Formats: sequence, C-alpha cells, structure tokens
Amino acid sequence: MTETSQTTEQKIEFKAEVSRVLDIVIHSLYSNNEIFLRELISNASDACDKLRYALLLHPELSAQTTPFQITITPDKANNTLSITDNGIGMDKDDLINHLGTIARSGSAEFVKSLTGDKQKDMALIGQFGVGFYAAFMVADKVTVQTKKAGSDKGYIWESAGSDSFTLNEDDSLPLGTTVTLHLKKEATEYLEPIRLRHLVRQYSDHISWPILLKDGDKQETINSASALWTRNKADITLEQYKDFYQSVSHAFDDPWMTLHYKAEGVIDYTALLFIPTKPPFNLFQPDRKSGIQLYVNRVFISDDVPDLMPFFLRFVTGIIDTNDLPLNVSREMLQKTPVMAKIKKGIVKRILSELKKRSEDKASYHKFWENFGIVFKEGLYEPIDERKEVAELCRFHVTGSDDFISFADYINQMKEGQENIYYLSGTDLKTLRNNPQLEGFEARQIPVLLLTDPIDEFWVQTFTEYQGKKIVSVMHAKNDLDKIAVSSSDTKNKLSEKEADKLLKRIKEILGDKIQSVELTDRLTKSPLSLITPEGQMSLHLERLMKANGQQIAYNSERIVQVNPKHPLIHKLAELINTNGNTQQIDNAIWVLYDQTLIAEGEALSDPALFGSRLNEFILSGLSVL
Ligand code: ADP
Repeated sequence: MTETSQTTEQKIEFKAEVSRVLDIVIHSLYSNNEIFLRELISNASDACDKLRYALLLHPELSAQTTPFQITITPDKANNTLSITDNGIGMDKDDLINHLGTIARSGSAEFVKSLTGDKQKDMALIGQFGVGFYAAFMVADKVTVQTKKAGSDKGYIWESAGSDSFTLNEDDSLPLGTTVTLHLKKEATEYLEPIRLRHLVRQYSDHISWPILLKDGDKQETINSASALWTRNKADITLEQYKDFYQSVSHAFDDPWMTLHYKAEGVIDYTALLFIPTKPPFNLFQPDRKSGIQLYVNRVFISDDVPDLMPFFLRFVTGIIDTNDLPLNVSREMLQKTPVMAKIKKGIVKRILSELKKRSEDKASYHKFWENFGIVFKEGLYEPIDERKEVAELCRFHVTGSDDFISFADYINQMKEGQENIYYLSGTDLKTLRNNPQLEGFEARQIPVLLLTDPIDEFWVQTFTEYQGKKIVSVMHAKNDLDKIAVSSSDTKNKLSEKEADKLLKRIKEILGDKIQSVELTDRLTKSPLSLITPEGQMSLHLERLMKANGQQIAYNSERIVQVNPKHPLIHKLAELINTNGNTQQIDNAIWVLYDQTLIAEGEALSDPALFGSRLNEFILSGLSVL
C-alpha cells in the first residue's frame, strides 16, 4: 500500500489474480460485453436484499434508507453510465476485500484453470461470469462511491483496470453504492435509453426491486419488478427462465432442466430450480457454497444455507421461497428448524421424479449424466432415504456395448442362471475393457458394469443390492462362473496335476512376498495370468486410489495370482519346469508375465527398467530363431 499524496488517497495494488482476470475481461470478451449491465444490476439488487435482511435483525438502521431501488443514469455529456443502489453499501474493508481480490471461490478456481490460450480461456470465462470486473469490458475507468449502512464513513474507489485502484474518503456520500463507468469510445451505445431499456428487459426483468432509467428529466421503471417465481408459470417465457437462471448462477449456458413449482401442504414453499447444461468448475471444491438462495416471503435471506440440498445434488441452482419461516430467521435457527428438513425432502423428491421423466429422452439424459453422473452417484453412498430412486437414475458403462445402461437394463441383459450384478472398477474404460478378469464373463456372455469414477469404489461397499440382486465384484464371481457353461468349452490342453502343482509352487517361489497365493482358474480365456484380491479386502483399484490421494494405508491388499492352465505360454512354462529347463529363463518368464498382468490391471511397475531388460532378452532370443 503506498500513499500517493498528502490527501487521504491511497493507492492499492490489485491481487495478482485480479490483474489476470481483468486482462482477459478487457481483451477477450468484446463479443458479449453487454452482460456487464446484468452483473452490476445483480450486485445492486443483492445489496438491496442484504440491507433489507439486515434491517430485520437491526431495525435501528431503518431511518437511513428505503424504498429500495436501482437507478441507471446515462450521462451523454460526460460519457458516463452510473448504476446506483440504496442497498447495504461497502466499507473500506469490503472495498479492499471484494473489489481488490477475487472473492468468489468460483473465480479463484477459474483463474487456476486458465490456460493462456485465448480461445480456451474465453470459453472458460463464459462458464464463470466475472461479476463486478465485467464493468471493465465497456469502461476504461470505473468509480465506485459507497457508504455502508450503519457507518458514517464514505469512500470513493477508482481504477482504470490495470494493476491498482485508489481509495479516497468522502463522508458526504449518501448511503448505498453508485458505480460509474467512464465508457470506452466503442461502448457509447450504452448511453442510449432504448438500448438500456432493452438490456434490462432481456437480462434483469425478474429483479424484484424497481430498476429506474433516468432519461433527461424523466425517470421511469423499466423492469416488471416482481420476483419471477411468484408469477404464473404460464406467463413466463423460456427466455425469462434462462435469464433468471443465468443471473442466479452467474452462468452463460442454458438450463438443462427447469423445475418451477409451488408446494402446498404441511409446509408451503415455491421452488424455482435449475440444472445447468455445463458443469460449473468448482463442483468438487469442498468450500463451495450451495447454489440455492433462500427467500422468506420474497425477502432474500441467504445464499449459503447449510443442508438445504443434499450433497449429491450440489449442481442444482435456483431459489426456494417459503412463508413458513420468520423473516428474521437466524443462521442457527435455520440449522435447527424442522421446516428446512421438510423442504429439503420435498425438493429432493421433486428433482428425482423430474429427472426420471427427463431420462426417457436418452440422448439428452446422457448429456446430463456425462456432466453430473459422477456427483449424482454420491447419492448411492449418502445416507438418504431415496437411494432406490437414485439408483434407478444411475447409468453405467458395460461390457459388450458402448451405451450407458441402467441397473434395470442390466437385469434385462442378465444371462440365464446368473444371480448377481457384476462390476469391475478401474481408472479408465480402455484398460478396464481389456482386463483379463473379464474373459470368463465374455466367454459366457455375462455383462459386467465398468466403473471408472473414484466414488464407485465407495458406493459399492454400501449399496450392495438392487431389486434383490447382489452387486458383486467380478473378483468374487466364482459361483456364477462355475454354474454357467462356456459356450465353446475347450477342455483340451489341460495340465496334468503334477505339472500344475510344480508350476504353482515355482510361481509362488519366484514372486515370493509380492503375492499371497497362486491358484488355477478356468475363467481366463486369453490371458495367461490375472490378479485378484480376496473377498472382503480392499480392491487393487481402491488401494491405488488411496495411495494416489496421499493416504497412508497400513497394509497392501493380499494378491492372489490366477493362472490360466489352457494358455500356450503357461503350457510351455509348465513343460520347462517339469523338464528342469533353463532356470534363469523360467524365472524371467514368470516375472515378465506377472509384470504384464500388473500393467493390464493399471498398476505401475516397481522396476520398469528391469521389466524392459527381461522382455528384451526374450525378444532377442525370439528374433534369433527367425
Ligand atoms: P459476486 O457478486 O458474485 O460476489 P462480484 O465481483 O460481482 O462478485 O462482487 C464482489 C463483491 O463486491 C460482492 O459479493 C459484494 O460483496 C461487493 N459488491 C459489489 N457490488 C456491490 C454493491 N453495489 N453494493 C454492495 N456491495 C457490492
């Protein structure tokens, strides 16, 4: 912070991330610059909401302001456009913290995801919204005059959007905030009343405070000034829903789903909820605020109500308005009151039943699933009553098809005699599809769900049954596999008992502590070996996930090596062991086969160089024969 003159002016540097956002906003966003007005009006409206709520808790502030309104003043003579509100205002700390840093967690995340590639970054910004900083798209200087309710100190914040802003004290300012844009040459269209009227209609009509436009001496209200959700569904256009969605969620996409209803019964409330078309960036940030705003009788209460939406539906945004809470409801009370739990139950039920309807349109539902399935599946893990409904809406990859399928689809595809629903989990589809564990299933045409999201490892432990069918890992599928015959059963090429015995012993000897045991299996058809963990133990994939997450796990899962006695390589190996062939070669072959199995499993080798040199030896001897 540096003092620049004898007056009270202070010059303060922007935090580094602000400068980066400003740079992008100023240089890359011309095409859509009109949204600056929506962002500033939305801030002004929030400020009125906040003061209205503060007045309920501190009525002593009341003499100072009302009625709430937002005024837009174009001034052609000075080439400025001002947006004035008589809301909560900002004190010095607010100005420094809110207009000098990136306060919104989503924006900070946005900055982290910037790539430096203009095209990509513009697409990113499109998914974020940049709030106040949008002003710099149309202005080369922005002045904010503000005084906070309850304070007698006023401030003037000013910045040219480069690397710093100045602060001056001016206690003569009225309460509330005026944001004045010194318009760029190419942005003077925003001085035209017609253009402003049109923009307010388009983006801000639903704002519940009057928006006044000053046109010379005249002043008129140019929005409908009634909260959108209180209007009749039939009177609301898709466009209006979209604008409202974009304004509550600071988004630029269309809502994928809009759910607007009034619940009447034990608890009365109105909900206007949206599911985005594009996933917000901060979906996985633990400190992310819920996207739901709570209103009581049309008065904004909070946009950070704990536990109004279950975690697995955290991508839903919108508003809930109820008359069943007192206006001066406190945060503590919100946490205790049964009203919230009842509303939560109601909205979850409605969202799930709406999703069920939407799932009939497969193509569109798959888009939803690709965006949010990974979060939605947490519902199979959360302790909620609606797990069954959640499960009905889940979709999975499956062997033998590129389609997403539901549990119900899976059950329809089950083989005669098949008792359980089978899954295999791992990090990516391609590796999973080639996993040797699937061979016995493919041979019997038993479908297997392929689970690739980290959360899958967790829900499979708690959600273990669907419509009476157990959900079981392919590793523990012996029963079904034994019961269902392989169509082209191939019984020749079996090892003799003695050969098998010697082979298994030798493998265990060589691999030693790396594995728990070795056994023959008839469920492999193409691979010589595969690897499983005993039932009840952490799967290899989960073990990898936890290690990758930096979690100290006390033990490594025990590994069982399964050997395919019909595979020619295994035959050759057994024969060599039986006839006391070259020890070095046998040992190397066992290591190479084992390492290969680890690779197919998606595991990193502990000594890849050694694997390479062993493999090279075999390649060389193979080539020498040619
Ligand atoms: P967001 O509105 O999403 O938080 P912004 O960048 O638009 O992000 O604004 C940052 C913060 O600055 C707001 O959260 C608010 O605290 C403050 N602010 C902006 N405009 C106003 C205003 N007109 N009155 C009071 N506070 C404001």
